[in-house]
Amino acid sequence: MLKGIHFLLTYKCTYECDHCFLYCGPHEKGTFTLKNVEAVLEQAGDLGTVKTIYLEGGEPFLFYPMMLESARRADEMGFKIGFVTNAYWATSEEDAELWLKPLLELNISDLSISDDELHGSPDAAGNALRAAKKLGFASGSICIEKPVTLANQSESGQKGEPVVGGDVLFKGRAADKLTENLPRISYKNFKECPHEELVSPGRVHVDPYGNVMLCQGLCIGNLFQKPLSDIMKDYDHSNHPICGPLLSGGPARLAEKYGVEIESGYVDACHMCFLVRRALLKRFPQFLAPPQVYGTTENE
Ligand code: SF4
Repeated sequence: MLKGIHFLLTYKCTYECDHCFLYCGPHEKGTFTLKNVEAVLEQAGDLGTVKTIYLEGGEPFLFYPMMLESARRADEMGFKIGFVTNAYWATSEEDAELWLKPLLELNISDLSISDDELHGSPDAAGNALRAAKKLGFASGSICIEKPVTLANQSESGQKGEPVVGGDVLFKGRAADKLTENLPRISYKNFKECPHEELVSPGRVHVDPYGNVMLCQGLCIGNLFQKPLSDIMKDYDHSNHPICGPLLSGGPARLAEKYGVEIESGYVDACHMCFLVRRALLKRFPQFLAPPQVYGTTENE
């Protein structure tokens, strides 16, 4: 049952992090208008099961007035609200309070602040966390560790335990930027999706183009073309051209089914899944979108 909707309010971000699984950055296109946020909120309300709305990105605080108004509308409709931010705006603890105070009037259930060396500014994250605590927000930090090769790594081609430490998911820019010197294992190990609820999703991400995603760039419909309630009702996991194979045999099955050329090894299941899906972009543009989260501008 769908309980949460995560708005990718914008693909723009102050930073261009190597580990970003959405390929966000200062020059990326795609930002929600308030009108489109309202349309999605209305569809979420119609569904009757959605309890929580997250506003994230990209960096949602880049479009502060629109973000705030979106949160107000969601609050009026009775949703709990969460934010995810890199806290670029928290130039001092005092100033961070100015940014956060207008959110106090809302039913905020979570304020997640990226606080790690992969993001731009640990000082800003610290300022934001202290200000949030002072104001009484339920806040926490998201800390992504750099990927490291573990000492007891499996050899390439062997059935393996995880070979890489850290919390990075190797999809999006992370698949292209952070995998170069990491150990790889045979594709045959990747027989399931380890992270997403592909059968009965509890939350989806919705982007400014209307894409409804189960995982970054893996879509089940477009809610500017078809109401969310119909998308959820009509979603048939076994007949979805990408989720079906992923459920029956993971990224390995996805590659085999469509004859995608297989590399000698992959860092993890997401690394393989992302590369195989990118190879299928042109074939399934409706289900693999938008191209920019695959690091390309068109369905090549
Ligand atoms: S990238 Fe593929 S394997 Fe990884 S969580 Fe997403 S759907 Fe699952």
